[in-house]
Amino acid sequence: MTKPLESSTQLVDDLFVIDASKSNADGMSFRPALRPGAPLLRRDATHLQVGTSPGIVIPDRPGLVDLLRLLDGARDVDRLVTIVRTTIPELTIPVADVLAELRAAGVVFDATRWSGAGRRGLDAEARHADFGGDDPDQLRRRPPYAVAVHSDAGSSRLATIVQSVLADAGIGNVDAHDPDLLVIVSCGEPSRAVFEQPVRLGLDHLPVVIDEDRVRIGPLVRPGLTPCVSCHDLHRADWDRAWPALLHQLGRHTVTMTPPAIDAATTHAAALEVTVEVLAHADGRPNRTLGRCLVVGPAHDDRTTWPLAFHHACTCDLLRAA
Ligand SMILES: [Zn+2]
Repeated sequence: MTKPLESSTQLVDDLFVIDASKSNADGMSFRPALRPGAPLLRRDATHLQVGTSPGIVIPDRPGLVDLLRLLDGARDVDRLVTIVRTTIPELTIPVADVLAELRAAGVVFDATRWSGAGRRGLDAEARHADFGGDDPDQLRRRPPYAVAVHSDAGSSRLATIVQSVLADAGIGNVDAHDPDLLVIVSCGEPSRAVFEQPVRLGLDHLPVVIDEDRVRIGPLVRPGLTPCVSCHDLHRADWDRAWPALLHQLGRHTVTMTPPAIDAATTHAAALEVTVEVLAHADGRPNRTLGRCLVVGPAHDDRTTWPLAFHHACTCDLLRAA
């Protein structure tokens, strides 16, 4: 049975009952843009509709469609007032009041929140944040942020996808020599020597291990502050007595190793989860892989996590106490 559209569509019936105290308080220096990704449609003889999921219905009035077509996010309200005065004389109520009410109804957004100094290349990210009620200003750390993604022969495809998505998300440098975060991707557990330098430099680093038919992400290590890869190994040695002997051999036999059993969908899913971790680190939001490992696979939508505590015998714990 089809649900009647009327019950799911937001009808803004009291629009244009002007409340001067409300419309003037909003400030009129914004650059109006129509609701992101939403088409402007005629619903019936007396109503317009913006968007289809479910859509916002607004009563039509003379000149309103022409005004809405002018809202490109580039013109500010003063400019629109000037244009309307000469080209849309049939619109009789003040443009600023119409726009304030449409903005309150979610039909109109302020494009100044999506761009500006220090936000180049972040328009889509900013629209997404604004649409969800978040402050697009939280994205300001992405353009100056630098990440390095190191990989080996068996993991280079995953690394390339991660860099591509990070670039789309507005990260300024995805191949940095002096990064804010080092992502170490490997096919099979890597030699522990690869973690020595980031620990010594105090550089935040994220291990990503393609392991048979799945991908382990984490722990994200902030040296001295969060549980590290050595903590991980010491916990493993607690229940697997041979682990110290195996550790010394890691990373040596990748040439003779059969390639992993990861399909394209799981590779992309894992790359996406890595990207989410890097973006959280860039934006200063909480990471899921601090003191925790996240596993993607075998299926693209399989996720497993487990916590990782400091190990009492690890020197990183001593660093923390110092
Ligand atoms: Zn440790």
